[in-house]
Amino acid sequence: MATPRYIFVCGGVMSSVGKGVATASIGKILQARGYRVSLVKCDMYVNIDAGTIRPTEHGEVFVGEDGIEADQDMGNYERFTDQISTAAHYLTTGQVYAEVIRRERNLEYDGEDVEVVPDIPNEIIRRIESVAKKDKSDFVVIEIGGTVGEYQNVLFLEAARMMKSRHKIGVLFVLVSYLPIPGKVGEMKTKPTQYAARTLNATGIQADFILCRSEQPIDAKRREKLALFCNIEPEDAIAAPDVDSIYDIPVNFAKDKLDLKILNKFGLKPKADRLGEWVRLARKIKSLKKTVSIGIVGKYFNTGDFTLSDSYLSVIEAIKHAAWHLGFQPHISWLDAEEYEKDPKKLRRLSSFGGIIVPGGFGSRGVEGKILAVEYVRKHNIPYLGLCYGLQMAVIEFARNVCKMKGANTTEVNPKTPYPVIDVMPEQLTNIKKKKMGASMRLGAYPCELRPGTISRKAYGTTRISERHRHRYEVNNDYRKLLESAGLTIAGVNPERDLVEIIELKNHPFFVGVQFHPEFKSRPLDPHPLFREFVRAATSH
Ligand code: GLN
Repeated sequence: MATPRYIFVCGGVMSSVGKGVATASIGKILQARGYRVSLVKCDMYVNIDAGTIRPTEHGEVFVGEDGIEADQDMGNYERFTDQISTAAHYLTTGQVYAEVIRRERNLEYDGEDVEVVPDIPNEIIRRIESVAKKDKSDFVVIEIGGTVGEYQNVLFLEAARMMKSRHKIGVLFVLVSYLPIPGKVGEMKTKPTQYAARTLNATGIQADFILCRSEQPIDAKRREKLALFCNIEPEDAIAAPDVDSIYDIPVNFAKDKLDLKILNKFGLKPKADRLGEWVRLARKIKSLKKTVSIGIVGKYFNTGDFTLSDSYLSVIEAIKHAAWHLGFQPHISWLDAEEYEKDPKKLRRLSSFGGIIVPGGFGSRGVEGKILAVEYVRKHNIPYLGLCYGLQMAVIEFARNVCKMKGANTTEVNPKTPYPVIDVMPEQLTNIKKKKMGASMRLGAYPCELRPGTISRKAYGTTRISERHRHRYEVNNDYRKLLESAGLTIAGVNPERDLVEIIELKNHPFFVGVQFHPEFKSRPLDPHPLFREFVRAATSH
C-alpha cells in the first residue's frame, strides 16, 4: 500500500483504562487482516526516556533491541504484534524539545523564530511519518499518553490534529474512555465519556471510535447515547469490558468487528484472517485448571497503600506465557524482600512456592532480604530464576555462604566490600563519576555463548543467543575461578568482552541466574526458553 494510514489512540476520563493494550490490540487485529503495522508511543514526560523514572512511578522500563529504555506499553506492543520496539517508536516531550532546540542551535530554522506551534508538533509529525517510511507500514497506530483535558499532552494532540488536516482521509482517532457503573446506581454511566469526547473536540479532534472501557460490555441503549452526544455511529462505540487476560482484548475487538470497521473507514478490504491462534490461546487460558505458584521477591511494589505489579510487568507476562504453554494457570505472589530482613522466619513461606524469581533492581534497599531468599531457595532445592540483579544476588550469596567470603557484595551496595564479587564496569564508573546517568547503562541486545551441558544450553537448544541488557555492574572476573572451583557453573559468557551472562548450580532442580532480561523477549505463543524450563521445574516442585 502506497500511503500509510495513521490511527491515534487517546484516553478519556482517567488514566489506567488500558490505552496501551488497546493500541497493541488494534495493531494485532489489523496485522491479522494482512496489513503491516507499526506502533508508536508518545509519552508526555520531559524525561528523554523512561530510564530515569522510578518503576513505582511509571511501571517497568521496557528495553528494546537497540537499547531504548521505553514505557512498559511498548512491551505489550511487542508481545501482541512482534514488532521490535526501537528508539524511533518511542517519543517523549523531552526528546521532541531537545531535537527542536538542537536544530535551532544549528541555525537549521534559517533565522525564523522557533515557536511551540507549529515547530513542536511538526517535529512530532516528522517522527511519526519517518516510522511509517522506515517500517514501510500500512498503518501506524500512535498512542498518546495521558488523558484528554490535561495540559501535558496538548502538543501531541495538536500534532494529531495537524496530521488529520494534512492527510484528510488517512487519519483516524480512537478514544479509549471509561464508563463507570457506580455500585449504588448499578447502571453504566456515559456522561464522563461525553465530556471526554467534547474535550477532545475542543482540541479540534473528533473521535471516530470510542472504546468503552467498563466492567461490562456497553449495551445498545448506551451506544445510542454516545452516538447522539459524541457524533459517532452507534456501532462505533466498541465494547471493551474488563477481561481476565489482556490477550482476550484483540479477540473481543475482532468480535465487535473493530478491524473491519477501521478498514472500512479507510476504504480498505481485509486481506487475511489470521487471528485464529490467538482465539485458541484465549480459549485455552480460560480452560486451564492445574496451577503453578511463583513468588517474586522484589521491592518495587508499594505506592501509598496500594500494591502495584506494573514494575515487573514483562516478568509477569513471561511467567504466564510459560505456564500456559505447559498447561498451567500461574499464581503469582509478591514477596517483599525487606520483610525477610525484619523477620527471617518468614523465609519459610518460600517453600510453599513452585519457584522463586528475584527480578531486576537497583540500590541497597531490600538487597539483604533478597540474598536471604536466594540462600533459602538454594538450600531447600526450590527452583530459582534470577534476572539481572537476581543473578548478582545469587553470586553474592554463593560467595558469602559457599566460598566463605564474609561480607562479599556488589560495589553498588558496598563500595568497600572486602570481596567485590560484583563490580562496576569500567566505562560505567566514568559515567557515574560524571553523573552521566541517562541512557548510559549497558543497554540492549548483546550476544552470549552458551556452554555445552548446561541447563541454559539445553533450554535454548542453540549455542549462541542474543538477549537484552540493562545494568552497570557485572560479575567480577577476578573471582570467577574461585567461584567456579566451589561449584558455580558459568553457563553463558559474552564472547566480545568475556562478561559472565549466565550462572547455574548443579545438584539443584533448577538454579539459573542471568545478567540479561529474558522477560522482554517472551511471547504469548512463544514463551521464553528459560522461563519455560523454570516454570516446568516449578510444576514439579
Ligand atoms: N543494579 C544492577 C546493575 O546495575 C542490576 C540492574 C538490573 O537488575 N537491571 O548492574
